[in-house]
Amino acid sequence: MLAPLCAAADARAEAAKLAPRPVDDARLAGADAEPGNWLTHGRTWGEQRYSPLAQIDVTNVSELRPAWVYATGETRGHEATPLVVDGVMFVTLPWSIVVALDAATGRELWRHDPEVPRAWGRFACCDVVNRGVAAYQGKIYVGTLDGRLVALDAKSGARVWDVDTIDRSKPYTITGAPRAARGLVFIGNAGAEFGVRGYISAYDAETGALRWRFYTVPGPPGQPREHPELVLAAKTWSPRSTWESGLGGTVWDSLAFDPELDLLYVGVGNASPYPREIRSPGGGDNLFLSSILALRATTGELVWHYQTTPAENWDFTATQHMILADLPIGGRTRRVLMQAPKNGFFYVLDRATGELLSADKYVAVNWASHVDAKTGRPVETGLGEWKRTRFMRPGPAGGHNWHPMAFSPQTGLVYIPIYALAYPFHRDKAFRQTPRRFNTGEDFARMQRAVDGYERSLRFCEPTRLTAWDPLTRERVWQVSHSSEMHGGVLATAGGLVFHGTGGDATLAAYRATDGELLWEAQTPTAVIAAPISYAVRGEQYVAVEIGAGGSAGLNFSLIRYENAGYVAAFKRGGKARLPERRLRAPGSVVAPASTASPETVARGHSLYHQWCMFCHGIGVKSGGLLPDLRFASRATFASWQDIVISGVRAERGMPSFADSLSREDADAIRAYVISQAHRRPTLLERSASWLYDNGACLPARWLAD
Ligand code: CA
Repeated sequence: MLAPLCAAADARAEAAKLAPRPVDDARLAGADAEPGNWLTHGRTWGEQRYSPLAQIDVTNVSELRPAWVYATGETRGHEATPLVVDGVMFVTLPWSIVVALDAATGRELWRHDPEVPRAWGRFACCDVVNRGVAAYQGKIYVGTLDGRLVALDAKSGARVWDVDTIDRSKPYTITGAPRAARGLVFIGNAGAEFGVRGYISAYDAETGALRWRFYTVPGPPGQPREHPELVLAAKTWSPRSTWESGLGGTVWDSLAFDPELDLLYVGVGNASPYPREIRSPGGGDNLFLSSILALRATTGELVWHYQTTPAENWDFTATQHMILADLPIGGRTRRVLMQAPKNGFFYVLDRATGELLSADKYVAVNWASHVDAKTGRPVETGLGEWKRTRFMRPGPAGGHNWHPMAFSPQTGLVYIPIYALAYPFHRDKAFRQTPRRFNTGEDFARMQRAVDGYERSLRFCEPTRLTAWDPLTRERVWQVSHSSEMHGGVLATAGGLVFHGTGGDATLAAYRATDGELLWEAQTPTAVIAAPISYAVRGEQYVAVEIGAGGSAGLNFSLIRYENAGYVAAFKRGGKARLPERRLRAPGSVVAPASTASPETVARGHSLYHQWCMFCHGIGVKSGGLLPDLRFASRATFASWQDIVISGVRAERGMPSFADSLSREDADAIRAYVISQAHRRPTLLERSASWLYDNGACLPARWLAD
């Protein structure tokens, strides 16, 4: 009789132990005093992504094995950073689903699906991803893909409140993680590629009431300015700007908070549309596009701003991860903010004043020669003027994208997951704002013709790299290179380690932080694009990461090698669990009906496909592998084409109806183009390029040097 009673008591005790204590400002400010937890997106408000745990170190990291693996049941991109609060892990999945797991065992405690209408996935430029939650005052906050901010009870997952943060007639999305401080929850949004007006909002953490909202770009002339900063901003825009495009400037990822300065740092995104000659003819800097804003956290008032790319012209967001640190510069300790935005320059700013301390190229850059130290402005070379086919470096994926970097106070180095890609911009000469589709001002059909045929021969070797950057000497210390366009975020630890995942090879690896020597590697079932974290339960250190390919690389320009699935995996020394076997994706076979359409119809379909379909199904109908490669679609799919594209019979599977945008004739033309691509034989040039690529040929990295 005693044993079952004891077991029940043990289970109750175990459950009580797992009840996470509420996270508040005192705990967040003192996060270093509880190194076993990961309380906010970047572990601390300063977002260094450095774990003070040192049990796993350079001498024993080779003993890391899976401790547990949680299968998420989702197959889209997994980009989230988990939080760990008192032994409970809170992590998000595609479609903004939130799960709570026992951080020691991976056992699911609760799962909340906010029921995002799957058709809303059409408005996600870069997959239906979510990057994580905020934990605060006993609640868990998630921004949903369809623009809501939802508060859940941390213990049960029950919904406490759910507020709409957007105008639902506009194609806004939320993929970034909220942050919390001062009784407020901060959340931005995404959607600049489609044409929306960016802003960040602060909501009362308890009630969900809106406390303040800061618009990053002005609204149309003649309308009242929502806050005084927009009077300053409006002076930098032409009266003939494309007001109907919303102008962009979305706050879709990075935030950081300094409690002493009471400043919330906000990374602002790219313009809508991209080419400044269309967007703001004869206009100025177009504030606050591509800027870092320092806002008073409690009021949303602007204290300073720094624009990394004035008159942004190339999707050069400044939404990349920002790290706060105290560095010895010029004989004194400076409170700095560091960012490696898409534009290719690594910035060190004084975070109290916004003063530029340094800006240096961390990847090959051809659009600007340097950043003028006096004016703080990049000096453009003229190569980025959209005049003819030119390969821009960096491309619109940036030198660095959303994948978080990390800073180790131990080595003084910043570890940046970089892209070394180039891209040909083609201006759409007939551009006009079209609701509910990409409105970047690019002619994607011309871009496709430019890259198709020689895209493989133009591949650069080592398209992704992990770069260790010294912000004091302002140079690269070491670098490791990867073969695929997909890779992950970064974690640094006090064990002298840097953890980083890869896509093509599908690995999670640990490097020595001082010199980049590979010390440990696990083969994962599919790509790792998320950032790892480290935490401890009952005195034992773990490293955990989400596994699952996706994002814009998985949709558009990378090849997913292994059958995709989603997992959260935790590793510890001597772990006894096993990662699922990886399986190569089966090659597709063409069963499309014969092509009977006229060349004119196919040409029309080519143009329409690249306006409406390319972003999910791939350039030239070559899918990255995340969503169906339409060249290999079934006969049934081709037979029910109108039902799928116009009637939306697969809307709940994420393929919405386009009846509001395309006619039945348009849909038929797209079908004709897809069929023609399915049956198309590669040209001699393409076959030669494929052969070269398959035999290891690519443009050497030194071609990307300055
Ligand atoms: Ca963008």
